[in-house]
Amino acid sequence: MAPHMDRLGYWGRVTSTIDWCEENYVVSFYIAEFWNTVSNLIMILPPIYGAIQTFRDGLEFRYVCSFLGLSVVGVGSWCFHMTLQYKMQLMDELPMIYSTCVFVYCLYECFKQQNKIGFIPIALLLFFSVSVTLVMYGTLVACLVIRSIYIVTWVYPWLRPLCYTSLGIFMLGFFFWNMDNFYCGTLRNARYNLPPVVGAVTQFHAWWHILTGLGSYLHILLSLQIRTTYLKYRPKVKFLCGVWPTLHIEPQKTS
Ligand SMILES: [Zn+2]
Repeated sequence: MAPHMDRLGYWGRVTSTIDWCEENYVVSFYIAEFWNTVSNLIMILPPIYGAIQTFRDGLEFRYVCSFLGLSVVGVGSWCFHMTLQYKMQLMDELPMIYSTCVFVYCLYECFKQQNKIGFIPIALLLFFSVSVTLVMYGTLVACLVIRSIYIVTWVYPWLRPLCYTSLGIFMLGFFFWNMDNFYCGTLRNARYNLPPVVGAVTQFHAWWHILTGLGSYLHILLSLQIRTTYLKYRPKVKFLCGVWPTLHIEPQKTS
């Protein structure tokens, strides 16, 4: 059995229904699960940049919502892992459902007339998000997977690499999420014998944040690229500092 080395910290007793594998208040007195907290930065900062870029390019509001939704998920997850309080747990889980609803709306309305609002799909999605369960979250993700595979198979085959990269990264993240839950004892034991840097790298729940953050960001990029291609906008993927992909719109030619 792994010794449970939980320490007491700033936020007091854990009240959330889930306490993840990373041991509490080991790195910082103010942050319950340090690695599971800071890894959320990838889900907060790049999407904010994406939202600004999308707004500047005058693209549809739903894509600004997509990016901001993802950053809200990141902030919620940050607060939850930092405090492990039940109230914050809801901040982690609810935005996940709502932002995925926005993703679904974008991807299912991408071949409609510009700026036309689909009230029926919005009502349906609200119904879904109110009946929140993990099963439904899984269903929504499945919708996204099926729809994106459909689009890159039959409509825009050149977007296949982006689609499968996003999907692959997300699935790798889910694999780490499971590893963290199933092999927590082994992982904790192993960390006692490893140097701290290696110990930090084996925080698989933190890897789940990094990979799903990156996978979701790439998904929005894919969705936005499908949409802007359909609207004949000439979207172009550019790499910020040579690494981080962003989408830019070339100026419209008026003819
Ligand atoms: Zn988490």
